[in-house]
Amino acid sequence: MELTGANSSRVGRIRSRIGVLGGTFDPVHNGHLAIASAVFNVLELTRVLFVPAARPWIKASSSAPDVSHIKHRVAMVELAIEGREGFELSRVDADRCGLSYSVDTISDLRAEYGYAVELLLILGADALEELPRWREPERLVRMCTLVCVGRPGGVLPEDLHSDHPGYGAQFVSGPMLPVSATDIRRRVAEGLSVDGLVPSAVAAYLEQHGLYGRDSQEER
Ligand code: ATP
Repeated sequence: MELTGANSSRVGRIRSRIGVLGGTFDPVHNGHLAIASAVFNVLELTRVLFVPAARPWIKASSSAPDVSHIKHRVAMVELAIEGREGFELSRVDADRCGLSYSVDTISDLRAEYGYAVELLLILGADALEELPRWREPERLVRMCTLVCVGRPGGVLPEDLHSDHPGYGAQFVSGPMLPVSATDIRRRVAEGLSVDGLVPSAVAAYLEQHGLYGRDSQEER
C-alpha cells in the first residue's frame, strides 16, 4: 500500500524526514544547494538526498542538448555537498538502467527506507508546474510529500488549478536565486566566470575536465 505524505505523517511512527532533490545537475549549482538548505532548515529534515538522473527523460528528446556523462555529474554533486551536514548523494537513479523518472526514484527509495520514513520530494516551482507531463504523477504524489521551492519566474502551488497534481504542495519560499545550469554551461562556453554560481570545488572540476568548453573533447 502506498501511504500519502499527509497520511504517513498521521500514523505517528515516522522516525525521519528525508528530502529528495532529483535533477540533471549538469552542473550542480548554488541554486540547488540553497533550496536544499532552505527546505532542510525550514522543515527540519533529517537529511537531503541529491539524486542525479542517469538519463533524465525530460532531456531525452533528440532536440534536447546532450547531457554530460553521469560520472561527471555524480562527481560534482559529491564535491558540492562535501562537509555539508545532512546532505547526501543517492545513486538510486545513477545505477538504474533506462530513462530516469521520479516515480521510480521515490518507489525505489520507499523500498530502501520503508514506511517509517517520510519522503519529501523537493521541486523548484518550474518543475512543479511541469508535473502533469511526468510519468504517473498521481502515483508519484501518493508516495511522497511534495515540497515546492520558489524560483524566479515560477508559479506558487496555490495558483495551480485544483486538479493539477502539484496543487496543495507545501511551499518554502527559499532564497529565489536566479541561477540555472543552462546559464552556467553558456557562461563556461563563452569563457565567462562562474564564481558565486557554483561551489569553488565544482568550478575547479569543470576546468580540470574541460566540461562545457567550446572545444571540449570530454565524454558528455
Ligand atoms: P537546466 O538549466 O539545465 O534545465 P536547472 O538549473 O533547472 O538545469 P536541474 O538539475 O534541472 O537544474 O534542477 C533540479 C531541481 O532543482 C528542479 O526541481 C529545479 O526546479 C530545481 N532548481 C534548480 N535551480 C533552481 C533555482 N535557482 N531555484 C529554485 N529551484 C531550482
